[in-house]
Amino acid sequence: MSFQKFELHEKILTGVRMLGYQKPTPIQLQAIPPIMEGRDLMGLAQTGTGKTAAFVLPILNRFMEKPLGHIRALIIAPTRELSEQTLEAIKQLGRKTKLRSTAVYGGVSIHNQINRLRGNVEIISACPGRLLDHIERGTIDLSHVEVLVLDEADHMFDMGFLPDVRKIVKHLPKKRQTLLFSATMPDDVRKLAMDLLQNPVNIQIGHTAPVMTVAHRFYPVQMGIKTALLKDILDKTEMESVLVFTRTKSRAKSLALQLDRSGHKVISLHGNLTQQKRKQALDGFRDGRYEIMVATDIAARGIDVTRISHVINYDMPSTADAYTHRIGRTGRASKTGDAFTFVTGDDMGLAHSLKRILGEKLQYHNVDGLTSEIHNSSSKKKASDIKSDNRRKSFARPTQTRRKPKQRSFQNANRSSWSQRSQSAA
Ligand code: AMP
Repeated sequence: MSFQKFELHEKILTGVRMLGYQKPTPIQLQAIPPIMEGRDLMGLAQTGTGKTAAFVLPILNRFMEKPLGHIRALIIAPTRELSEQTLEAIKQLGRKTKLRSTAVYGGVSIHNQINRLRGNVEIISACPGRLLDHIERGTIDLSHVEVLVLDEADHMFDMGFLPDVRKIVKHLPKKRQTLLFSATMPDDVRKLAMDLLQNPVNIQIGHTAPVMTVAHRFYPVQMGIKTALLKDILDKTEMESVLVFTRTKSRAKSLALQLDRSGHKVISLHGNLTQQKRKQALDGFRDGRYEIMVATDIAARGIDVTRISHVINYDMPSTADAYTHRIGRTGRASKTGDAFTFVTGDDMGLAHSLKRILGEKLQYHNVDGLTSEIHNSSSKKKASDIKSDNRRKSFARPTQTRRKPKQRSFQNANRSSWSQRSQSAA
C-alpha cells in the first residue's frame, strides 16, 4: 500500500515523496486512518517505528483547509532533542504547506521563543517545563488547540513530567483530539491515558521488545577493561556511525576524550552541555564529521540519525526499557543495525532478562585477552548456563596479555551503506 491511499493533500504527499518514504510503516498504516477520522488514539510503539510521521501527517492534512493564525496542534515530548526532531519532521513533511511551526523548550532564550510565538504559528513541539513557563507568563495561547499529542509518555513519566502535563492540559479546550504514544505502559501512563483519552483506538506495534532488525551482542568484561575492549572493537569492526552510551555525564566526557586521543573522530553529548553545544554535537554526528558519539541516556533521547550502524552500551542501561530506547537509535525504520553491550558481573540480572526477551537474537561474544573467561568455553552458552553464572558477582580477570589495538580510521568504511555488516570482533 502506498501513501496515496490515505487521501492526503497533494502538497503533503509531495513532502512524503521528498523524504523518500515509499510505503507507510506498520504504525502509519494503523494509526493514520483513525487519526484522520478525528479519533483519540493510544499507540504502544517503540522508537524508530515511524510514529512521528504517523501523527504529523494527519495533523498537517487536517490544517490544510482551515484558517491559519492560531496554535492548533500541541505536541509534548520529554526532551529538547525529541522536540527538535519532531519539529524537523513537521517542517520536512509540511514544506509545501503554509503551516508554521516552532519548538518550545528550555535551555535557550525565552525571548526569542516569545517573538516566534507572537508571529502566529499553528503547530508547537514542546517540552513540558518551558511550556508551563510560557503559560504562566501568558506568552502562549493554547485556547484554540484542536490536537494534543503526548509523545514518549513513559519517558515523561520517568523524568517526572506527568504532573506538569496534567497542569498544561487544564489550559487546553476540553473538546479536542488527543493522541498518546509510549513504548511501554507503566501504571501512571495508563492512568493518564484513561483520564485524557476518550474512547481511544488502541494500537500496538511490536510490543516492548527491542527493535528486531538489530543484532544484539553481549561482551562479558571487567569494568577496568571496558575502554580497551571498546577501542579494540572500534579498530576491528566495519562501522558507519557509532553511538556509545555511558551511565554518567563525566564518563561520557572522559571516554570521548580518551577516544579522541586515540585518533577517533568523536564527540560527547550529555546534560552539562548548553543547548547550542548539544546542537553542534548532534549536527556534527549527523553530517558525519564525528563518527562516534558518546552520550548519556537523557541526552540521547530523541536522537534521530538514520545512519547509526552500531549502538554500544559501554555501561549497561538500568532497565530493559532503557535498553529498548537506546537500541532504538539504530535499526531505525526497519534498517539493520548492531547493538553491542558490555556486561560486568553486576549487570547479570538485567542481562538474563534481556536474554529471555531476545532469545537467539542475543549472542555472547568473546575477544581474546579482553573479555572475561566466564564465557570463553562457548559464546553460545545456554540461558540456563548463564543463570548459574549469575551467582558470581564479578568476572574473572582476562588471562591473556592485552594486545595494543592498532589505529584505524573510518576513512575506508563505506559511509553511505546500511547494509555493511560488522565483522566479528571475536
Ligand atoms: P520515528 O519512529 O518517528 O522516530 O521514525 C524513525 C525514522 O524512520 C525517521 O528517520 C523517519 O524519517 C523514518 N521514517 C518514518 N516513516 C517512514 C517511512 N514510511 N518510510 C521510510 N522511513 C520512514
